[in-house]
Amino acid sequence: TPLIKKTEPIPVALYGGRHAVTMLPGGGIGPELMSYVREVFKYAGAPVDFEVIDIDPSDESIDYALTSIKRNGVAIKGNIETKSENTEIISRNVAIRNELDLYINIVHCKSFPGVHARQSNIDLMIIRQNTEGEYAMLEHESVYGVIESMKVVTESNSERVARYAFEFAKRNGRKKVTTIHKANIMKLSDGLFLDTSKRIALEYPEIEHNDMIIDNCCMQLVSNPHQFDVMMMTNLYGSIVSNVACGLIGGAGLLSGRNYGDHYAIFEPGTRNTGTAIAGKNIANPVAMLSASVDMLEHLGHQQHATLIRRAIEKTICEDRIHTSDLGGTAKSTDVVQKVIDHILESDIRPWYK
Ligand code: ATP
Repeated sequence: TPLIKKTEPIPVALYGGRHAVTMLPGGGIGPELMSYVREVFKYAGAPVDFEVIDIDPSDESIDYALTSIKRNGVAIKGNIETKSENTEIISRNVAIRNELDLYINIVHCKSFPGVHARQSNIDLMIIRQNTEGEYAMLEHESVYGVIESMKVVTESNSERVARYAFEFAKRNGRKKVTTIHKANIMKLSDGLFLDTSKRIALEYPEIEHNDMIIDNCCMQLVSNPHQFDVMMMTNLYGSIVSNVACGLIGGAGLLSGRNYGDHYAIFEPGTRNTGTAIAGKNIANPVAMLSASVDMLEHLGHQQHATLIRRAIEKTICEDRIHTSDLGGTAKSTDVVQKVIDHILESDIRPWYK
C-alpha cells in the first residue's frame, strides 16, 4: 500500500531537463526519510530522478556511490553507520566527504516560529571545515597504552573556508563573521586557522570580524546566541556547535546541512544522526531531510519547486503545528508528510500543473 494517500494524479514536470541525483539512504531512519522525500517530490512535480545506492560498509558499494556522485554531481544522503570495531574500516561518511573534497559544511540555524524551543528568533550560519582537523583519522598507538591522534590544519583549507565564509557573508547581506578556535592551547593548528581567517578578513573591510574561544562560544550560544551571525570553525568544533545550535531551536529533526566542494554537493540532515532507536516507528521528524531536499532543489536551480516545498513545510510546522514527538507533538511522521503534500496540492504556485 502506498505510504501517503493519493488525492490527485502525480504531475509531470514540464521543464526541459530532469536531473539525476544520487540518493544514499544510509542506516536507521534514513530509508524512511528518503521515502518521504520521494513522495513529496512526486506531488511537487520536482524534475529529479534518484539513483538509489544502499551502502554496505563491508563491501565495495562505497565505490558505486562515489562513481554515481561524480557522475551526477549532487547527492542527498542519510547517515551511514560504521558498526565495525575494526579500526581499519573508516567512517564511510568521512570517506565520501574526503574523496569528493567537500571542504565546506553549512548549517543554517534558523528558528521556526511556532516550534517551542529554548531560544527564538535565531538566524545564524555555521560554516565548518569539513575534511581535515580532528577528523584526519590518523591515530596510532605509539607504545602500549599511549594513543596519538593527529589534528591536521592546512593553510590552503583554512583559506578556502575563510574565503567561503566572508564571500557568503558579503553575498547574503550578513554583517559579521566570527572565527571559533582554541588557539590559546593549540597554538600552531588553531593558530594557523585563526591567523588565516584574520588575513582573509582584511579583504572584506565591510564585514565585521571577531574571534572567540570554543569554550566561551558554547556558553554564549546558550546564553546569548543572537550576537552571532556567520560562524566559521574547524571540523570537530563545527560538529559540536551545530548540535548545540540545533538543540537550541528544536532538536535533531529540523535543520538541514549542506556539503560543498568545487565540483560536488551533498545534502543531508544538519546533525547527521542515524536515529537507530527510532527507526521504523513512524515517529522520526521528516523536516530535516525534507529541508535538505529543498536545499538540493535550490542548488539545481529549481527555485520554484524549492519554494513550493519550503512554504508547505513552514505552513505545516509553523501554522498548523503538526509536530512529531521530538517537538512535543503527537503527530506521526506520515501525518507531517501528508500535511506538506496537502499544502503543495493547494498551492497556487504550481503553474506547471493545471
Ligand atoms: P544511533 O547513532 O545509534 O542512532 P545516537 O544516540 O547517537 O544513536 P543519533 O542518531 O545520533 O542517536 O540521534 C541523537 C538523538 O536525536 C536521538 O535521541 C535521536 O532519536 C534523535 N533524532 C535524530 N534524528 C531525529 C529525527 N529526524 N526526528 C526525531 N528525533 C531524531
